[in-house]
Amino acid sequence: MSGKRKEEASRSAFEEAKQYIPGGVNSPVRAFKSVGLTPIYVDHAQGSRVYDIDGNSFIDYVGSWGPLIMGHAHPEVIAAVQETAAKGTSFGAPTLIETEMAKLVCERVPSIDIVRMVNSGTEATMSAIRLARGYTGRSKILKFEGSYHGHADSLLIKAGSGVATLGLPDSPGVPESVASNTITVAYNDLESVKLAFERFGEEIACVIVEPVAGNMGVVPPLPGFLEGLREITTKYGSLLIFDEVMTGFRVHLNCAQGRFGITPDLTCLGKVIGGGLPVGAYGGKREIMEKVAPSGPIYQAGTLSGNPLAMAAGFTTLKLLTPAVYDLLEERAARLEAGFVKNAKELGIPVTINRVGSMVCPFFTEGPVVNYDTAKTSDIPRFTKYFGNLIEEGVSVAPSQFEGMFVSAAHSIEDIDATIEANYNALKQL
Ligand code: PLP
Repeated sequence: MSGKRKEEASRSAFEEAKQYIPGGVNSPVRAFKSVGLTPIYVDHAQGSRVYDIDGNSFIDYVGSWGPLIMGHAHPEVIAAVQETAAKGTSFGAPTLIETEMAKLVCERVPSIDIVRMVNSGTEATMSAIRLARGYTGRSKILKFEGSYHGHADSLLIKAGSGVATLGLPDSPGVPESVASNTITVAYNDLESVKLAFERFGEEIACVIVEPVAGNMGVVPPLPGFLEGLREITTKYGSLLIFDEVMTGFRVHLNCAQGRFGITPDLTCLGKVIGGGLPVGAYGGKREIMEKVAPSGPIYQAGTLSGNPLAMAAGFTTLKLLTPAVYDLLEERAARLEAGFVKNAKELGIPVTINRVGSMVCPFFTEGPVVNYDTAKTSDIPRFTKYFGNLIEEGVSVAPSQFEGMFVSAAHSIEDIDATIEANYNALKQL
């Protein structure tokens, strides 16, 4: 699509949905509220493109918010789901594919000896935190400002004022007593982590971190940051949890921990490992994971956990992910980045582009962007206008400055070049 987006059908579908679904959507960002536009109502998607109910098509970099690393409706993934579905959709009893899937995850993720499947990233982080608390017998956790780990109470916490203070609820409904057990400090700021540990070290069960922050745009870890977290947590007997729900199998065949060479105690996965179906997982050192029920006392369960359809989609996706795929993703994403940098320079618009593998984020700021505070220096009204322009150019990205673009293996060189041209036009019209 290039030119005026048709949106009558999407608008009327959204109006109807609002009568029956809070805000018309089943996850807030889909409402396009922050950019003041009508959401794209998807009819279907294939490869790099989504097609909406108004007949528009878009080169898509949302990729269902990260899972679709092989592109939409990959024929092998669809075939695996169809074949599996024909045998029944859920049994609440063990199936062979669960072990196949667990084996593959253990082989590929350096820190995982043993893994439990759940149904979402939120469940994965929530369960990993419970495990860390149960294992250490401590209550407090430490997270980073601007990171998102799903919507469990103890993770929906914003920073308190001042360094190394306790957190505040980020949403009504999260009790202050829960927030007071979450310490929030700035990403990439090891000094603050050290201060927090000096003050609360013996009470901190775990540090949970996105090894590449992907929920404040894309923010790579500064050299030494992850290493420092490993060191500090080890020193204080606290667990290090990598939330790789977004980065897992996205930035490397062996996840971010493989890319950066740091081994956490526990790892949370989601998105890519479900191949577009609802999945999460948490795993890690055997000694810790064996504390989970039924082998241990820490309770966690799920009616649909290890669901055969989700396992089939995830397993097929992981099998498709070879080193060659990561090389291709790197090459395509680097081409996109270079094109965006050139466009911004040519048009004299201050843009900082952060990229790790196939995660790319243009921030409307001089930069550098290393944490949430610097991400927030981005010109949000400018992003909002850019987003609207990009949609008109037929390119779909997340409707927020604080989310990255996901390049998939289905994005061809032609798609990338068309996106660079769309970016130029969208910037020019700012
Ligand atoms: N952790 C990270 C890093 C995420 O990006 C997300 C979702 O975007 C989650 C956890 C929560 O996953 P889910 O939306 O599957 O509950």
